[in-house]
Parts: sequence; structure tokens; C-alpha cells
Amino acid sequence: MRVVKFGGSSLADGAQFAKVVAIMKANPDRQVIVTSAPGKRHPGDVKVTDLLIKYAQAVLQQGETAAIVAEIVARYQAIATAFNLDAQVMGKIENELYQLPNISFKNADYLMAGFKARGEKLNAFLMTAVLNQEGVEATYGEPKTLGIVVTDHPNDAEVSRETYDRLTAFRRPLGVLVVPGFYGYTSRGDIATFSRGGSDITGAILANGFHADLYENFTDVDGVAAADPRVVANPQMIQEMTYREMRELSYGGFGVFHDEAILPAIAGQIPINLKNTNHPSAPGTMIVPEQHFVPKHAITGIVSSQHFGAIYLHRYLLNKEVGFTLKLLQVLARHGISYEHMPSGIDDLTIILDDRQLTEAKRKAICAEIQEVVHPDVLKWIDDYAIIMVVGEGMAQRTGLIQTILQPLASAGVHVSMINEGASQISLMLGTSRESANRAVKAIYNAFFIPINQRLEVQ
Ligand code: ASP
Repeated sequence: MRVVKFGGSSLADGAQFAKVVAIMKANPDRQVIVTSAPGKRHPGDVKVTDLLIKYAQAVLQQGETAAIVAEIVARYQAIATAFNLDAQVMGKIENELYQLPNISFKNADYLMAGFKARGEKLNAFLMTAVLNQEGVEATYGEPKTLGIVVTDHPNDAEVSRETYDRLTAFRRPLGVLVVPGFYGYTSRGDIATFSRGGSDITGAILANGFHADLYENFTDVDGVAAADPRVVANPQMIQEMTYREMRELSYGGFGVFHDEAILPAIAGQIPINLKNTNHPSAPGTMIVPEQHFVPKHAITGIVSSQHFGAIYLHRYLLNKEVGFTLKLLQVLARHGISYEHMPSGIDDLTIILDDRQLTEAKRKAICAEIQEVVHPDVLKWIDDYAIIMVVGEGMAQRTGLIQTILQPLASAGVHVSMINEGASQISLMLGTSRESANRAVKAIYNAFFIPINQRLEVQ
């Protein structure tokens, strides 16, 4: 059996709902469907989740809410109208949206979570009605009834272990079970959501808990491309890759699938198929366990991310000082900051950080504290930092591959400030300036994916 998750753009309006119904009808193995909230219908549109956040903020600030609720109701109404649904269905949805401010929440954070979760909840409710009307027997499954228990972090929850036992024990009704994504219940019974985009996580949890043969994740692209299509024109699609390749690529910035969602799938060894609702006949990308995987290419994908910064330290005989790194990491820990990588030499060390966790004030405070605690001769903050990740199971077996990666970079005038290889046998990490990042991706892509007589010079 398969668990199938549809993203926001796949459920944005009546026409998209009709595609989802056709996909569900096409294969009776699709027995569990996970819904997102209605997403964007066109580039300038607003997701229902964002409208709900606005609604929650208005309630918290005791501001005007009438227009915003009406806008949310209209999004569901348009779908209900497209299917000529019984007025009762919309009546329930409308009522639940208008009654939200009357529910008593533990605090503002739980209120926010409770409002946000309604996006998926009401869409699942609507989907259940649509499927039944279209001749597919369907039952709505509330995460509480199913036993999706999450940690006490209202807007950034994690699944609790007991969930899997409860799901295994849950008796699924006949037909299709429709489950809202994105949220679960804490042990005290409050709604808490995963981080944004977290319906993917719900799908993976259900695939694991119900021991599915396959987890199908439908979005609006044909799968994962070997490089970002905004950087490389018409990149090749990746047909098959392993869990750990996907982990490395999504760490590097590939956004098709939520990076936390892979973990429940790995735990249950359930293959994932990323597919396109608008083009369901395309095979999409399969993400599979490492065992028995035979890589067809040396590299699978190249990705760059530009949200890094680095602290560079220099001090003679740094490598001889016992506890130096510990002191440094304690400074970061006191400020609640995690680090990504720490390449070091005999007298030098660079700490690479995700700079989205820093404010200017925090950065200054950290640098001042490091200066005081470890007395480096040089301490520099480098904010012009980009990381290129070259990922592939095939890399582990190739000799001389690094040359094939670095040569095109040299020809494209990309200066490489850091190379990190070895921690993971299947990826190579390169540091460069932000300005060079796209050029680097194009140059490496050309070298590995474009036949020699068709390559263009990378500018
Ligand atoms: N609707 C939620 C969001 O926009 C969750 C999801 O779509 O996966 O973040």
C-alpha cells in the first residue's frame, strides 16, 4: 500500500483537486492521503497558511479580522463550488474558521499553532467530501485519533516515538484515509505544528507507522534536478538516488522535500517517490535505501547555498593547545548557535555557521567573547561565504574525481577557499565567494552532465 502526500500547490483550487482525485483513482494501492493547506494558485498568490498566520496575529493584537477570515473562507468555498458540494460541508468549514478566536489556547504560541493547523485540517475535511462525492470511499482521520504525538514545541514540534506504535495499532477503515499534514498533538492534548513545509513529515511518519511499500510525495515539479533550474538551464532529472544523497542535497539547499521528512522514511526503509501532480505520468525521482543501490553516474547533483558565514582564527601553535576548540564551542553554545563545519590547520581554524541564526549584535558579542577567551592573533568574520556541495554515491569509488571537479572551476575563474572531503564518502564540499557560487555550479554541471562538444563557456 502507498501513502500519498499532496503539497499546497496540488490542492490550491478546484482544478488541482480534480487532478488529485484522478491520481487517487488511478491506483487502489493509494490508501492514505495526506493534505497540505491550499497553496499558491499563481506566483503572486498567498498560501492559506500565511493567511491563517495573519488571522492569528490580528486576534492576538485584538485587531480587525473580518476581511481576513472572509478571504480564507473564499479559498475553500471556491473548491467546494467547483465540485458542487453539499452546503453543509462549507457550513462546517466556515463555522470552524469563525469560531477559532473563541477557543482557549494555552498561550500565544499555541494559539498560532492551532490557527495554522486549520489550513490542513479543513483541506483534509474538504478532500474527504470531494473523494466521497467522486465515488472514492474516504474517511477523515484526525491526527489525535491516529495517535500522532509530538513534542511540546508549538510551532516547531518533533514526532514522539510512541506515535509509531500507536499508528501500527490503528485499524484503518476501508477505502482511503484522509489525514491532514503538518501537525500533531502534544501529550497534554494541544495542537503543535512541525516547521513550515512540514506536511512532508506527516506523510513520512504515516508511511513508517503503517508500514507502507511506498511514500509518494506530489508537488509541482517533475522531481529533483541535478542542479537548480534557476542556475542551470534545463538540468537533467535525477531518476534515482539514495536517502543519504537526498540528505546531503537538501542540506545544501535543495528544497523539493522537507529535510526532516526523510528520517521517518529511513527508519522504516520506505522508498520515496517525488512526483508531479500536473504531470503524473512522469516517473519522478525515487529515493531509496543504500543497500543494493548501483550508482549510474559519478555525481548525482550539485547544489550551492549562500546563507553561510565564517569566523576565521589564527594563532601560532593552535593545534598544540589542549581544549582550545572546546572553549570556542562553549562560546557558541552560550549564545545558542550551532556550527556547520570546522576545517582547521596547525595555526588556523575556520568555523562555518548558518548565518540565518545570527543578528549583527549576536555576531559582535560572539566575536568579542572568542577574543577574550582564546586570544587569537587574528580573528576575522567572513560574511561573503558560499558552499558548493557535489554529491554522489558514485564518488566513493572514483579515483581522480577531484581533478574533474576542480579543473572546470579553475577555467571558470572560481576561487576555492575550502575543500572538505572525507567526512562523508559521498560528497565534496567547497567554499567560495557568493558571487562565484552560480558559476561554480554551472562549471561542475557542464563537466559532468554535458557532452564535451556541447559545452558552453561558463561566464
Ligand atoms: N501548509 C504548511 C506550510 O505552508 C505546511 C505544508 O504545506 O507542508 O508551511
